[in-house]
Amino acid sequence: MANEKTNPPLPGVFDSHEPPAQELIEQCVHCGFCLATCPTYVLWGEEMDSPRGRIYLMKMALENKAEMNEKWVSHFDSCLGCLACMPACPSGVEYGKLIEATRAQIERNFERGTAEKLHRRLLFETFTKPNRLNLLRWPLLVYQKSGLQSALRAVGLFYLLPKSVAAMDELLPQVKPVEAVAAVTPAQGERRKRVGLLLGCVQRTFLSQVNAATARVLAAEGCEVIAPPEQTCCGALCVHAGEQERAAALARSTIDVFEKADVGTIVINAAGCGSNLKQLGHLLRNDSQYADRARRFAAKCKDVSEFLAELSPRAERKPLAARVAFHDSCHLQHAQAIRMQPRSLLAQIPGVELLEIPEAPICCGSAGIYNIVQPEAATQLGDRKANLIAALNADVVATGNPGCLLQLQSALAKTNRSTPVVHTIQLLDASLRGLPLKSVL
Ligand code: SF4
Ligand code: SF4
Repeated sequence: MANEKTNPPLPGVFDSHEPPAQELIEQCVHCGFCLATCPTYVLWGEEMDSPRGRIYLMKMALENKAEMNEKWVSHFDSCLGCLACMPACPSGVEYGKLIEATRAQIERNFERGTAEKLHRRLLFETFTKPNRLNLLRWPLLVYQKSGLQSALRAVGLFYLLPKSVAAMDELLPQVKPVEAVAAVTPAQGERRKRVGLLLGCVQRTFLSQVNAATARVLAAEGCEVIAPPEQTCCGALCVHAGEQERAAALARSTIDVFEKADVGTIVINAAGCGSNLKQLGHLLRNDSQYADRARRFAAKCKDVSEFLAELSPRAERKPLAARVAFHDSCHLQHAQAIRMQPRSLLAQIPGVELLEIPEAPICCGSAGIYNIVQPEAATQLGDRKANLIAALNADVVATGNPGCLLQLQSALAKTNRSTPVVHTIQLLDASLRGLPLKSVL
């Protein structure tokens, strides 16, 4: 993978390693249809914080008419990478590729302040390493169970600390015992498929009940589930934040592991990871050893709702009385065009009443590490979404991404209803096992 030394600068501010492609930039005809779907434009009404404005800034930089300075970079840092602008665009501008390339350029060529650099490094060195996340479980459990967390919140200590620290505290889920997924879970009844299961990093450590539910549902539907324990982070957080080399290394390792597992499909229950893995062919397109393998790997990836919607249901769905508000994760609805599949899974459960959340295309503010590095905008978006959900009077919110789950949980806790949030697959799992809603809360 190229770096600063091997990539001489172009006449503009970008280096020559995969700058945002001019032909993609030129597809933008400045019509503005994307503006209403862009969360940062909705919040601030600033042209340069809209997709059209950001594409214009890329063009200026490419033509050597803009500097990569703090102001220029801030408009890209404030982008959630939610991709709501893509389905709204009649010209088919591939904004995802543009922002990915721009962010990689920023991380290579822009000198961030020391504190910010350290903070970002700490996040990547922790969130992409399941072993390190696992080491945090006990101290965090003590922090929560000893009453220290409540005491610090009660005295308002977090108001004195940087906002990102308060954001991390608010996002922290209740630490629960780990429900490990076996390396091989046999299919129930006659085997219909052999599938791989991506375990994720945060999901494996702090939301392991989601992985356990996914493996049970897949097995109940006749799938043998292979969950290689040696799998690493897939690199989604890195690619979304412009850490391209780190992302590529993690992508190669994920490909190696699942090639060995010899599975026909790789099932993913985290929308952010799924959208990344489906794009590995693009990320590794210039890697002579991995380009073809990455394309083959990407073609096998399916979100769990997508996979189950294609597989005719075999296991009996038992009643589960619940008013369920479904939240579309951006990396499911915009990046993977998956909207109907999770709704159809929920509709298969007798007793479930499905509720639609207004402003569904607008991001909840989670967006990878966005809610930690841009806590103010993320909080505004989270509060906006939480108020819309609270008005629905739902028993539970279902979603398909761990980042959204934690973000909504934290935002809803501030409303007077505090509606619980779960992964869609947990509701299906409860139905297949004949358990009540409270078993998953
Ligand atoms: S990715 Fe999301 S935040 Fe960024 S420009 Fe597009 S709609 Fe706006
Ligand atoms: S909708 Fe597409 S073409 Fe129109 S301004 Fe937005 S990105 Fe450009």
